[in-house]
Amino acid sequence: MSRKARAVINLEAIRDNYRLARSLAPENRAVAIVKADAYGHGAVRVAEYLEPEVDAFGVACIEEAIILRDGGIQKPVLLLEGFFDPSELPQLVEQNFWTAIHSEFQIDQLAQLPDDSELTVWLKMDSGMHRLGVLPENYAAAYQRLQALPQVKEVVMMSHFSSADDLSDQTTLRQVEVFARATEGLDGEVSIANSPATLGWPQARGNILRPGLMMYGASPFTESQENAARLKPAMSLLSEVIAVREIEAGESVGYSATWTAEKTSRIGTVAMGYGDGYPRHAKNGTPVLVNGVRTSIIGRVSMDMITVDLTDVPNAEVGAEVEFFGDNLSINEVAGWCDTIPYTMMTCLTPRILRVYG
Ligand SMILES: *Cc1c(COP(=O)(O)O)cnc(C)c1O
Repeated sequence: MSRKARAVINLEAIRDNYRLARSLAPENRAVAIVKADAYGHGAVRVAEYLEPEVDAFGVACIEEAIILRDGGIQKPVLLLEGFFDPSELPQLVEQNFWTAIHSEFQIDQLAQLPDDSELTVWLKMDSGMHRLGVLPENYAAAYQRLQALPQVKEVVMMSHFSSADDLSDQTTLRQVEVFARATEGLDGEVSIANSPATLGWPQARGNILRPGLMMYGASPFTESQENAARLKPAMSLLSEVIAVREIEAGESVGYSATWTAEKTSRIGTVAMGYGDGYPRHAKNGTPVLVNGVRTSIIGRVSMDMITVDLTDVPNAEVGAEVEFFGDNLSINEVAGWCDTIPYTMMTCLTPRILRVYG
């Protein structure tokens, strides 16, 4: 390997985080969410590793589901956004893809399939997110309609939370309440819990969990939380110093000269940039580890390079290892410095970042 920008992925940590989700609701089943290439961790590799112990996988769309099947994954795959076009339906039947149903017109389309289709569908309710789903007042009717279709084998009731990542926001409990009222008397399994609900809202776990972010070892919360503190980071974004120079006080570094040395300073240039998916919005002062020592990013992130302050890391020479986040530096902390969230830090990594499985 020449350029050393890489993400080291710890599959065991992903499995342990998945097990943590299961242990928080031991009676529940779980769909492991591997959409967006398993949040940048490699969907087929992650799914292969987890397949012996998960009930199903969750992806956004049929293209992502097919990648799993082509990779040899045999467990059911849930399409969280459902199908976009009825031409997808025969393949759902053939490949045992489960589909979210978010609108009545999709039920009309299902009804056109052969009677022996044996589809598993997840009827989504809009309990307050107002993005996707059947409205609460129409939910029971849609549910009963699906139950009555010969093409449908099972209907799971699902919804999604808008604000479960904020433990002081009562919106989650209101959504639970809306969901409970609209599904009263309906008999079937319930799936409402994403990572924040799984970790922090015992009242909102339903029967089937849908953990995503937490499997990859990041906390969905901005504040510390007991269960989230038990997560193990699954990805370390690493590279190395490729050049070192000393500059005088008053000299600036990088595009637009946004950082100026106040004293004689040692500057390291690292092979990582926004072309790798590292956020360009990282502020001066964003933490980074060089040879295990905490220092900071200075100047603008450019496409292929980042400059770091090595003034207090005198032993760091060309070849010194740099950790941008991972085992020793929390992705949550770094995301805060970049005005973003761990979800984007993981999913924005580009194909130029080599994924190495440890
Ligand atoms: C992405 C997604 C999840 C997983 O969310 P996390 O916050 O990453 O756990 C669960 N359910 C649905 C419908 C999703 O789209």
